[in-house]
Amino acid sequence: PLREVDPARNAEDAAEAGLRPQTLDDFTGQKASRENLAIFIAAARQRGEAMDHVLLHGPPGLGKTTLAQIVARELGVGFRATSGPVIQRAGDLAAILTNLQPRDVLFIDEIHRLQPAIEEVLYPAMEDFQLDLIIGEGPAARSVRIDLSPFTLVAATTRAGLLATPLRDRFGIPLRLVFYTPDELRQIVSRGARKLEFDLTPEGAEEIARRSRGTPRIAGRLLRRVRDFASVTRGGPVDRAMADAALSRLEVDSLGLDGMDRRYLRRIAEHHHGGPVGVETLAAALAEARDTLEDVVEPYLIQEGLVLRTSRGRTLGERGWRHLGLAPPPRQTG
Ligand code: ADP
Repeated sequence: PLREVDPARNAEDAAEAGLRPQTLDDFTGQKASRENLAIFIAAARQRGEAMDHVLLHGPPGLGKTTLAQIVARELGVGFRATSGPVIQRAGDLAAILTNLQPRDVLFIDEIHRLQPAIEEVLYPAMEDFQLDLIIGEGPAARSVRIDLSPFTLVAATTRAGLLATPLRDRFGIPLRLVFYTPDELRQIVSRGARKLEFDLTPEGAEEIARRSRGTPRIAGRLLRRVRDFASVTRGGPVDRAMADAALSRLEVDSLGLDGMDRRYLRRIAEHHHGGPVGVETLAAALAEARDTLEDVVEPYLIQEGLVLRTSRGRTLGERGWRHLGLAPPPRQTG
């Protein structure tokens, strides 16, 4: 698949890792977040203290993991990574926390999927660098307090609203990542092509960028697919026409939408007269998890004006109708 909900660890990951920017200066886009981080990193370095905790939120594939790694590198400290669903017991988290070196960065991906009981362990750890653990069971159980090294938690989530308020409030540096502009993606694609030693014209890079759904992870995948396609067809540089042919074969349409996006749009148009329709209804009809629709599918469609989110549900935007090649129904009054 061109995009995955659960960033499953697979061969694509190795390919992605090779394209990851290593420093803040190398990191294209996200200007506001980058500028903020640069200041906090410099201040923490100057004071020789652990940097404040960072919450990165935004759709998958926008660079949350990459930024977390960059923060550790620029702070000159160690980096440990885990994720919400992986931590099953409070003891798992305690083991990770007690093994951190002073000022290390701990990255927790998908922090919204942490179990509430484990979240409780995190509060004193974040606030006072202390762990309160219950040792033993029944009448013999006793509570022990363990001091931790000061550390920086960098957490990632697809939507900040999914976090419990007490957890959200414990992050001193909340940063929202946004979709990349076509120009930023063009730079990322061109750089990726150079790293892969793949001869891609500026127009070819622009075409891939334009069809990447505002997302560097998708840009990287499309770049590699276009390269595969080019390597079996002919030699020479890959231009816009070649890129277009390859992307069309992958069923990535002129706006960069994939099959899931189109099924979603068509469902609202054909079964609900353009809406409004509730997200639960759509999720059931499309056999997708509601979270997948809200975190992965909808944000880009909404940004592009293809879909509107209203209090009564989702409606198809003007642009959505046009993209499907359909005429919107006559506007209703009232
Ligand atoms: P997230 O954690 O938000 O899902 P990642 O940090 O894993 O996203 O980024 C996905 C891929 O996109 C990375 O492997 C990296 O190669 C690429 N990427 C992300 N942000 C950038 C960027 N600003 N410049 C270049 N490549 C990027």
